[in-house]
Amino acid sequence: MELISGNTFWPSTLEQTLDFPPLAEDLTCDVLIVGGGMGGALCARLLGERQVNTVVIDKRKLAHGSSSANPGLLQYSNDKTLTSFINTFGEANAVLFYRMCKDALDQLEKLAATLDINPSFTRRSSLYYASTLADVPMLQKEFEQLTRFGFPVEYWDEQQVAARFPFRKPAALYTHEDAEVNPFCFVQGLLQTASRLGVSLYEHTEAKHFEFGEQEVVCHTSGGTIRAKKVIFATGYETQEIKTDRGAVLESSYAIVTNPVVDTPLWHEQCLIWETARPYLYIRSTQEGRIIIGGFDEPVLDSKQREIRLLHQQKKLLQALQELFPNVPFKIDYAWAAIFGSTHDGLPYIGPHPRFPNCYFLEGYGGNGSVTNMMAAQLLADELTGTHRPELELYSLTRTTKPSPETTEPLV
Ligand SMILES: Cc1cc2nc3c(=O)[nH]c(=O)nc-3n(C[C@H](O)[C@H](O)[C@H](O)COP(=O)(O)OP(=O)(O)OC[C@H]3O[C@@H](n4cnc5c(N)ncnc54)[C@H](O)[C@@H]3O)c2cc1C
Repeated sequence: MELISGNTFWPSTLEQTLDFPPLAEDLTCDVLIVGGGMGGALCARLLGERQVNTVVIDKRKLAHGSSSANPGLLQYSNDKTLTSFINTFGEANAVLFYRMCKDALDQLEKLAATLDINPSFTRRSSLYYASTLADVPMLQKEFEQLTRFGFPVEYWDEQQVAARFPFRKPAALYTHEDAEVNPFCFVQGLLQTASRLGVSLYEHTEAKHFEFGEQEVVCHTSGGTIRAKKVIFATGYETQEIKTDRGAVLESSYAIVTNPVVDTPLWHEQCLIWETARPYLYIRSTQEGRIIIGGFDEPVLDSKQREIRLLHQQKKLLQALQELFPNVPFKIDYAWAAIFGSTHDGLPYIGPHPRFPNCYFLEGYGGNGSVTNMMAAQLLADELTGTHRPELELYSLTRTTKPSPETTEPLV
């Protein structure tokens, strides 16, 4: 799968990316992690800390999958509102999920502080504005629900928004205790620490075929055979080539990064900005004074077609930014298109699958993928080191997908 087209920004922010060798021998380990993006790196870091004999392989250069295309907004609110989750899953499960996202943000902050490579983790608030007047009642309801369960949020009317931003919107929620990060540096930093903790890392090493036994999984790779007691599939959106989830949807998403514009903040507290429309636009700033804006997701998966669409979509993104901030002379320095995955019910898929014995899947799909990947890594690290996490039931891979002949597994 071609995950990314165009020119991503984050790799340019790190002077020296880490190099790891391809696998060139047979190995045995307790846990094999397939995939060294945000999900795999977080698992590797947590398992390394617990002294679990762990191996990570990636068919690309480590950290060069979707995680390098991620703009790095970290929020406790999700693409689906708390109100909407309550309607689908009931109050207890919905609030549990939102609280776990908020806790995951705290865990990401703690991990960021331990890394030698600076991931520019910065606490931010988020402006979630009503794209149209019709969305205002929904925002009011969401404000009530978030407040009822203790989430830090303010409700702003049109005047309150206009007093802080150079644009007018009918209303907005201002959520606190969110954050921004450089996801590429974060993954590199996690992998560097995992390596120091004894985790073995191999890049340009593809898992090609698996044999699932009662006691172990044998993984045949492009460079040797790995016998593992347990396997974590942290293969991102390409998991859909290994095991399809009926509830997963893959689309293309677009993003641009501008030139460094000014050294003074362009808007209130340099908060993260997003909106109620679906698909939504999101905006953030970077440490260098650049602006990232992304969105305009659409169902284009063919990489050739996506490259052509990128030319059009980057202009639309620049125009959307210019409409919000008419007095700033923006120009595009980086533009990319990437596969973006979400689930129909808004929850990630995390945990075992009956057709893959001794395996766990980590699919932090959705716009909050880094946050749900953190939550998943914590759950799986606990589960693999003897602490059962009943919360996994909520994220079960079989909640909508019952094993059936339609569930294809080309790698098996
Ligand atoms: C445009 C865009 C915007 C986003 N915005 C945000 C955001 O603002 N905030 C947020 O939190 N999240 C966001 N996300 C989601 C976030 O990027 C992802 O959830 C997260 O980075 C995915 O990490 P991952 O480890 O699951 O996948 P990846 O980073 O893709 O890592 C998976 C790795 O598995 C490897 N792999 C696959 N198959 C094999 C195989 N057979 N053998 C060996 N290796 C294999 C791949 O090479 C890859 O490196 C966004 C994503 C995109 C694309």
